[in-house]
Amino acid sequence: MAMPAAAAMASAVENPWHNAQRQFDEAARLLGLDRSLRGVLREVKRQLIVNFPVKMDDGSTRMFEGYRVQHNVARGPAKGGIRYHPGVTLDEVKALAMWMTWKCAIAGLPFGGAKGGVVVDPKQLSVGELERLTRRYATEISLVIGPESDIPAPDVNTTPAVMAWIMDTVSMEQGFSVPAVVTGKPLAIGGSQGRNAATGRGVMFVALAACRRLGRSPQESTVAVQGFGNAGSFAARLMAEQGFTICAVSDTTGAIYAEHGLDIPAVIAHKQQTGSVAGFDGSESISSEQVLEAPVDILIPAALENQVTASNAGRIKASLLLEAANGPVTPDADAILEKRGVTVVPDVVANAGGVTVSYFEWVQDLQSFFWDEDEINRQLEKIMNRAVDDTWQMAQEHGVSLRNGAYFVAIDRVAEATIARGIYP
Ligand code: NAD
Repeated sequence: MAMPAAAAMASAVENPWHNAQRQFDEAARLLGLDRSLRGVLREVKRQLIVNFPVKMDDGSTRMFEGYRVQHNVARGPAKGGIRYHPGVTLDEVKALAMWMTWKCAIAGLPFGGAKGGVVVDPKQLSVGELERLTRRYATEISLVIGPESDIPAPDVNTTPAVMAWIMDTVSMEQGFSVPAVVTGKPLAIGGSQGRNAATGRGVMFVALAACRRLGRSPQESTVAVQGFGNAGSFAARLMAEQGFTICAVSDTTGAIYAEHGLDIPAVIAHKQQTGSVAGFDGSESISSEQVLEAPVDILIPAALENQVTASNAGRIKASLLLEAANGPVTPDADAILEKRGVTVVPDVVANAGGVTVSYFEWVQDLQSFFWDEDEINRQLEKIMNRAVDDTWQMAQEHGVSLRNGAYFVAIDRVAEATIARGIYP
């Protein structure tokens, strides 16, 4: 049956891969990128689909589907996280892999882009089931991952413990320890100081840099954060430490608001105790949509893709939006926000702190020489500030949005590497 036009349009808008390609196509067109290079860069280099069985605690066997996608490796080994979520699709992973290529290039890291995912709700699994699933998935994708080829990391619903199982599985198969095969590991097995907080810390540096450029101070800026996991909770905590007032936060279980600001360390403790931000003392319960539309200066989507769309972009009150999540703003929403004068710092800049400290972890593992946290945070700040400066300067020079400015920087660098290497054979 043919899909009605409106439904076809809506599903196209919601497909992250179509959105990622649309963002690239627009930047490539504005940049006047050579047609054949455009053809190379708008596709992923390699996509692996794996279907594998896992023994469940009740004795049954369940099949799972997973993916590992490498978008481009012209600048170095592929790098990107692994997501466990029931909504994971191959197209989502392809989009996330492409965004990783641009992100690594903007941060000046010698990596290409990759991403992985398993279609699973890990909250429905026991720890044993999660470990068996992770070890089998790691084995299936060990065809393509490795310290010199493709280095996974945490993403939505994956943790340092999951990274430890991946590292151990690959090490057992090789017969010796291979710490540099994955980043975001626990410190005890070659993890890096500061990795856990890195994405949120990067968002905080970007918030400070953006405020400096917009002539605002943290003390007079209110913030709403959608998603209170790794990226969102660290961003909220570290920004509160810098003087920002965090008025609203949410997770999958609820959303809370306090006009004069939430005590973020206390919200984190409350979430640790109850598993939810909901019900926090002294806060008002609001809907998930209200977080995005909260009357604040800065909005930080830190959950999943497609949260700000053509249907709610007109109601966003914040004048600065920092994309801590990947792909939270659709291209149609982007156009609406731009028209309304909302400054959007794109994901490929705003959340680059995670992959940057992952790069530090990989370097430390390869050298078996570890840095202290001050050194990590100092180097991270330098890279984040440079990424913001390069993006802002490019956007101003060409009179384009920050997203297009960021893409110009990234595409220039990836195109230069691709041209320098030439086409094999
Ligand atoms: P996470 O699993 O630690 O946290 C995700 C959070 O989002 C959870 O609190 C969850 O409850 C919440 N959430 C999910 N759907 C929601 C919704 N509809 N409304 C409100 N809250 C919702 O994941 P994470 O690692 O923090 O990743 C979040 C985003 O940041 C993703 O887009 C990810 O790709 C991106 N990111 C993460 C890293 C990293 O290092 N972890 C790095 C760069 C980008």
